[in-house]
Amino acid sequence: MVACNTTDVLVIGGGPAGTTFGCLAAKRGWDVALLEKGRHPRFHIGESLLPMNLSILDRLGVHEQVKAIGVLKPGADFTVANSGAELQTYRFEDALGDSPDHAFEVRRSEFDELLFENCRAAGVEANDETTVTHVERLENGNHKVTAVDAAGEESFWETRFLVDASGRDTFLSSRNGWKKRNPKHASAAVFAHFRGVERRPGNDDGNISVYWFEHGWIWMIPLRDDIMSIGAVCYPEYIKTRRGSLDEFLLDTLNGMEEVRARMQQAEPVRAAQATGNYSYLSQRMDGPGYLMIGDAFAFIDPVFSSGVYLAMGSAERGVDVAQAWLEDNKRAYRRASRKYRRVTKRGLAAFSWFIYRFTTPAMMYLFSNPRNKLKVVEGVVSMLAGDVFSNKAARRRLQVFKVIYAFAWLFHWKASLAARKARRPEIRTRLQRSHAAE
Ligand SMILES: Cc1cc2nc3c(=O)[nH]c(=O)nc-3n(C[C@H](O)[C@H](O)[C@H](O)COP(=O)(O)OP(=O)(O)OC[C@H]3O[C@@H](n4cnc5c(N)ncnc54)[C@H](O)[C@@H]3O)c2cc1C
Repeated sequence: MVACNTTDVLVIGGGPAGTTFGCLAAKRGWDVALLEKGRHPRFHIGESLLPMNLSILDRLGVHEQVKAIGVLKPGADFTVANSGAELQTYRFEDALGDSPDHAFEVRRSEFDELLFENCRAAGVEANDETTVTHVERLENGNHKVTAVDAAGEESFWETRFLVDASGRDTFLSSRNGWKKRNPKHASAAVFAHFRGVERRPGNDDGNISVYWFEHGWIWMIPLRDDIMSIGAVCYPEYIKTRRGSLDEFLLDTLNGMEEVRARMQQAEPVRAAQATGNYSYLSQRMDGPGYLMIGDAFAFIDPVFSSGVYLAMGSAERGVDVAQAWLEDNKRAYRRASRKYRRVTKRGLAAFSWFIYRFTTPAMMYLFSNPRNKLKVVEGVVSMLAGDVFSNKAARRRLQVFKVIYAFAWLFHWKASLAARKARRPEIRTRLQRSHAAE
């Protein structure tokens, strides 16, 4: 008979959320095991970090290591492609409050490996090539976890607290039927790495660039060694028009934008294009007795403001308080910690979602391309771009003002706004029908 390992905390998944949780829980003295199905280093999308990530990197003790593998990112620029309009640059140094004036852009293969090793160094029993296949709740309130390694060997774990950090695999929410795809926001992304793409001049050379085009938007993220990560986030109808390979489709899409074409004259692809479809979803639950979901295992909205890794690591950090109260069997503290976890996690998602859902509307494109700094609204927007949306009251007030301005801009561009909304309607209907049929 195979022995059952016992542990205080078991984490499913060794991405940014899982490794942050594992490391911080181990630093508090808990026995932690982490099971990761892949093997680091491995490719992962999500390469642009936010300034608000940096303090978490400090608390994990990896700031300097991330700096060594990253490209300094002082801001973000936005362009409406083929419009002749000038690009607008938003610099983190202009944010309200004291968020850092830069972030980093990283190869996730290096970043995630570094976090994984850091987790091990903190005392976590972190096993890669180990896939969790089954979880059940025992009568004593603990969870029993079954995993299988690369050789097909099974292992069994009994844990007092279970953390689902399985990312887009959404281990618990998929198996329990809690996962709801977002019918209002179904996009797909096609992405690859290129060498030789022109960077922004001077200190802006590490900025992320965002371009709107008629079928969605694209990102350009500068990485080390002259590599540029480029991805197109497109409406599903556009993706369906693809006839050739993904690489051809991505290149055709990029070549359709004159500003992008100009930067890619010397570009050569160094990584085959990949696609991710229909990525926006939310779990109806994020915690329960003796378990918690963090990062993408709970929800993912959209990559546009590069918020995914920060939200994942932030939720992990907050989640450690919930685990601690559970493990100490302090019912009052546990109720308080889990309420706070739910409230703050939802607040962060809501702050980004409002912008994300409107990002491709004519009114939002107009406001981002014509920033007028009345009432320090631009600084508020920069704070949002920096990820400072949880507790910065000044920024939150400016964002409320921005919402009012957005409403006026929508009315001012009412014809284009209505046309854009109408153009999206048949698609939303089709998506709804499809998701009902699938349920
Ligand atoms: C197209 C696109 C572009 C993006 N761009 C950005 C960006 O620029 N910046 C940004 O911040 N975010 C971006 N994101 C989001 C970002 O990728 C995620 O939010 C982030 O990786 C979430 O971290 P995580 O730890 O929750 O999940 P992941 O990083 O996905 O980690 C989950 C881990 O769990 C493992 N796992 C899964 N199932 C099991 C199992 N059964 N057993 C064991 N292990 C398991 C996986 O192998 C994986 O290593 C982007 C997302 C997409 C789709």
